[in-house]
Amino acid sequence: MIEDKNQSLTSLTEFGEFRLINHLTQNFKISQETTVKAVGDDAAVLDFKNKKTLVTTDFLVEGVHFDLSYMPLKHLGYKAVMVNLSDVYAMNGKASQITVSIAVSNRFPVEALEELYDGIYLACKTYNVDLVGGDTTSSTKGMLISVTAIGEVEEDKVVYRSTAKPNDLLVVTGDLGASYLGLQVLEREKQVFQVNPNSQPDLTEYSYLVERQLKPEARKDIVELLEALEVKPTSMIDISDGLSSEILHICSQSKVGCDLYEEKLPLDPQVISTCEEFELNSTTVALSGGEDYELLFTVAQDDYPKIKANPNFTVIGHITEEAVGANLVTRANQKVELTAQGWTALKSED
Ligand code: ADP
Ligand code: MG
Repeated sequence: MIEDKNQSLTSLTEFGEFRLINHLTQNFKISQETTVKAVGDDAAVLDFKNKKTLVTTDFLVEGVHFDLSYMPLKHLGYKAVMVNLSDVYAMNGKASQITVSIAVSNRFPVEALEELYDGIYLACKTYNVDLVGGDTTSSTKGMLISVTAIGEVEEDKVVYRSTAKPNDLLVVTGDLGASYLGLQVLEREKQVFQVNPNSQPDLTEYSYLVERQLKPEARKDIVELLEALEVKPTSMIDISDGLSSEILHICSQSKVGCDLYEEKLPLDPQVISTCEEFELNSTTVALSGGEDYELLFTVAQDDYPKIKANPNFTVIGHITEEAVGANLVTRANQKVELTAQGWTALKSED
């Protein structure tokens, strides 16, 4: 982690705000037709013609959302963009622009911000979005980053959280819980390092988990895949806070219930083995872990043939009438109520 202890690093104070913005943004290229004017004027100018515009913002605060002792700045920049693009994809839209606002203390040299912007640059390039503006200011302590993502969607393609219907299938992309476990592994290594600074962590057996935590990918590919399969979900949300909390959002906003099957939850083998090692219940981790940045959606039963053979999708349950409530059907075939924390504990039975 580069902080301003090394004499050869460039202090923010000697750079000045204008030169800093120019320095950080000069390599970014514009690729979107909808970008009329990017960085450099009082406001960006965008033109979406007959499309609907999507706008979404997230804030990341050092010490609350990220810890720079194990989060490399390049990864942080990349992840800050992913978190926002994921919200655009969750509307079934195409992300096209971002703005990036940062507040940093003078503990960070220019080189640290270069690393952050390397990650932002890579995200923009990989996901084909334009950096069109932002703001740069100082903070008394720590780093704060806010990204706004802008996207477009045709009016008849936009998918809300509020439109799931009874009998729809509940589908999730990818697998669950890995990012949370990656964080547990990194936290453990941080403790070990504090006791013994010479320790060299070997994270190979947790590589997938750590990657999911440090370098998540937003599921742009899923929006494209759904389009190719001619499937329009009846509702959709991205998984930032954990599967059960996102399911409950769909249920409450759509005024429906659901049956979610414990045995269907997609888990990577590293999630299963690491849950055993940490003595965690893998279902709890999958339901409450968060930061998976997968998409959760519902589809009409008629669309099942179009999605069933695709390895990106797992059908994990179905939508029911609201009166039935949101439930987890356990491996033992018991129904328990889903809560934002996972599920309500089973009462002991005689
Ligand atoms: P203003 O005084 O009008 O807020 P700024 O000097 O803050 O202007 O910004 C000048 C230009 O640089 C604007 O286009 C703004 O959107 C852009 N910009 C400022 N900070 C950042 C940043 N951290 N990342 C990307 N663009 C930025
Ligand atoms: Mg400004």
